[in-house]
Amino acid sequence: MKTETPVVKYLADYKAPTHKIETVDLEFHLDDTQTQVFSKMKITPVNGNTLELNGEELKLKSVKVNGEEFSNYKEENEILTLTGLPSEAFTLEIHNEINPKANTALDGLYKSGGMFCSQNEPEGFRRITYFIDRPDNLSVFTTKIIADKKDYPFLLSNGNLIESGDLEDGKHFAVWNDPFAKPAYLYALVAGDLAVIEDTFKTKSGRDVKLQVFVDKGNEEKSHHAMESLKKSMKWDEERFRLEYDLDIYMIVAVDSFNMGAMENKGLNIFNSAYVLASKETAEDRNFFGIESVVGHEYFHNWTGNRVTCRDWFQLTLKEGLTVFRDQEFSADLNSRSVCRINDVRNLKAAQFPEDAGPQSHPIQPKSYIEMNNFYTMTIYEKGAEVIRMYHTLLGEEGFQRGMDKYFELYDGQAVTTADFTHAMSVANDNYDFSQFRRWYDQAGTPVLDITTKYDEAAKEFTLTVNQSTPATPGQPTKEPFHMPFLLGLLDSAGNDMTLALKNRDDQNDLDRGLLHIKADTETFVFANVNERPVASLNRNFSAPVVLRSDLTDEDFVFLMANDNDDFNRYEAGQALALKNIHAMLKDENHQVDELFIKAWGSILNDNNIDEEFKAVCLSLPSMIDVAATIDIPNYRAIHEAKDKLFKLLANTYKLELASIYNDLSTERPFKVDAKAMGERKLRGFALACLSTVEEHKELARECFKYATNMTDMMNSLSVMVNENLPGCQESLKEFYDKFKDQTLVMQKWLSVQASSCDDTTFDKVQELMKDEVFDMNVPNLVSALIGSFARNKVQFNHESGRGMKFIAEMIRKVDAINPQSASRLAGAFNDYRKMPADLKEIAKAELTAIVESDKTSKNVYEKLSKTLNS
Ligand SMILES: [Zn+2]
Repeated sequence: MKTETPVVKYLADYKAPTHKIETVDLEFHLDDTQTQVFSKMKITPVNGNTLELNGEELKLKSVKVNGEEFSNYKEENEILTLTGLPSEAFTLEIHNEINPKANTALDGLYKSGGMFCSQNEPEGFRRITYFIDRPDNLSVFTTKIIADKKDYPFLLSNGNLIESGDLEDGKHFAVWNDPFAKPAYLYALVAGDLAVIEDTFKTKSGRDVKLQVFVDKGNEEKSHHAMESLKKSMKWDEERFRLEYDLDIYMIVAVDSFNMGAMENKGLNIFNSAYVLASKETAEDRNFFGIESVVGHEYFHNWTGNRVTCRDWFQLTLKEGLTVFRDQEFSADLNSRSVCRINDVRNLKAAQFPEDAGPQSHPIQPKSYIEMNNFYTMTIYEKGAEVIRMYHTLLGEEGFQRGMDKYFELYDGQAVTTADFTHAMSVANDNYDFSQFRRWYDQAGTPVLDITTKYDEAAKEFTLTVNQSTPATPGQPTKEPFHMPFLLGLLDSAGNDMTLALKNRDDQNDLDRGLLHIKADTETFVFANVNERPVASLNRNFSAPVVLRSDLTDEDFVFLMANDNDDFNRYEAGQALALKNIHAMLKDENHQVDELFIKAWGSILNDNNIDEEFKAVCLSLPSMIDVAATIDIPNYRAIHEAKDKLFKLLANTYKLELASIYNDLSTERPFKVDAKAMGERKLRGFALACLSTVEEHKELARECFKYATNMTDMMNSLSVMVNENLPGCQESLKEFYDKFKDQTLVMQKWLSVQASSCDDTTFDKVQELMKDEVFDMNVPNLVSALIGSFARNKVQFNHESGRGMKFIAEMIRKVDAINPQSASRLAGAFNDYRKMPADLKEIAKAELTAIVESDKTSKNVYEKLSKTLNS
């Protein structure tokens, strides 16, 4: 049995720190198992003479105050309490020891392969030395690193290199100083024998910044895309947000064992190698896109996160929601804006909506947590970005940028709250009233809009009635209405937008850009001078992140698919129609798919005026999760079969057109990484997936695989072969393995594609793959690729026998002993608990109860699974 319940932290309990650490001089004597850390801090008391420092898994060697040995301290529950300290500014020196090699949690300073590296957000620094490890303590850091010169020729930390040289016994040292005061979570240290590629960027004020990307030797050629992405990010932030880089050097280091995607440490970003390394032979287009986006994201943090940081971790969305919005806009400016928006919303619906409807639901600014690492969630990041996007929609680009200028003017160099962000946006825009809008920070759950429409031909009036409601979420049984920006258009029969005029409203201000403000539980908008029955294009560009239910007819959706001036809604109309048909098929297996939908799908396929990438996303069917979201107790196998049947029907109906698209896109062309070329590969892959379900084209995927000259085509064909169990599948998997078995990032794809197959043989296959030499339970990327993919495989995880969930429960226990963060991510597989059929729920309950009651369980896993059980 678990002996103690982990402590819950509450936002309401916030108190400012009692002391400020002004400067800290760190000295590291690096060693695999006995690294010595010497810390010398200049401290100013703010309130009292008792100081509490955080410290975890540290061996304390000595404490000195103002140069004298000090013994007035006790260490308890990961807090070092020093009492009777001077009431004036003083110096505190601490010597402690850490064991980087034993640090498989990858939190703090650890060894990854042959190198030392660190991850300190949110609370890793306390595993390096004793400190006020909270984001509202901003200190100037100076770091001296001492290590063996042969094994660790590169010694890196934040800021500028101010000194370096050789020492006795083959050792050397480097001293780094970061002039910008920062919280400890932005501190970084790297030591290793690496390869580096270099470039420079001239800022708009004419300063030269040295850019370096460090990778394992031999990977230099694969790091150019990351370097190009960095330069694009720096230029874009100057042009769109008028923000310039502030240090003389910017470094990115790629590591294979990393818990996150990447980390924005000041001047020294540390990246999961998956977000740095790419070549056409080893990376898919989505990897190239992901690298550009993540490099941008971490770079943009230099202002939104580092220069202005968070007061406490409840404010995480202050930096993450805002920076995700910024990286989304960066991607949209550099690629197809419509497709980027569609993909962002697809991602939100597939991962954040279910989170918000399940046991882990929390507002973008949570009120409490046990383990902060559990709150690096889709809600804080992606829904947080939607909230920032709503400010942007309400204020427009100019007003939003004025708000950003004000934000930096008021808060540069400070640790602030989301309320401060809202304040800046408001005062820069004539004291815009965000009081109701602020509910987005406090209320969890995805709001639902129910919309009814009415056309009065005699009066030439069109009435739109909008009802908003938000389902209950854990701890929040009732909700207040939100203020949401709602973009709409009314289309005439020629497909043109009508001029909008509201009859019953005084406030017409935003009508010229199609913006309505929804604030009350029920809103009625009466549009005047509407000369024919219009088709309403609702919530354009997904301006409000909600579930929309309307009385639009199938004919309306078909019309919108063909005519809407808003690309997002063209896509969305197709999804709505497909979803209706899948539902009907689930109810009645003899359901005849609607002719209207089949025709509309075909007209998108045959439309030569839309680009390839947009075509491919518009033709995609709703995900399994989209379908499940609308069902109380989803049967994933039935959903999979219904989707499959619909897909095959469409593919067979249009096999000639699909074959001609496939052939046209198969002519040899130079490999490029731009929106056009990536769109072509995407559509070709889509056509291949369709054709592979058609009897006469079953050999096509194997052929595509054999002649593939890039990883995108290779993975497209491999996944089709695995999913459809097509001829040539086993040979292809074997050839792929033989070719890439030494490249862990590529092997992650190989593991993932096999673990994702809905086929019943997948369970045994995964057991077998765990024994393969390319798999390693200590590396989070590999755990995610194999075990994580299986956990996300809805059909196999929910297998009728219960074997899928029993296996994942066992894996949670095993991984938890190595890396709690990695285990906690796996635990998310049980978020559907409330929606499981009774027999599976019984099995899940027994497994989860055993984990929650075990005293070996980490607080990460405990927090998630205890919430799951209580849901
Ligand atoms: Zn971030």
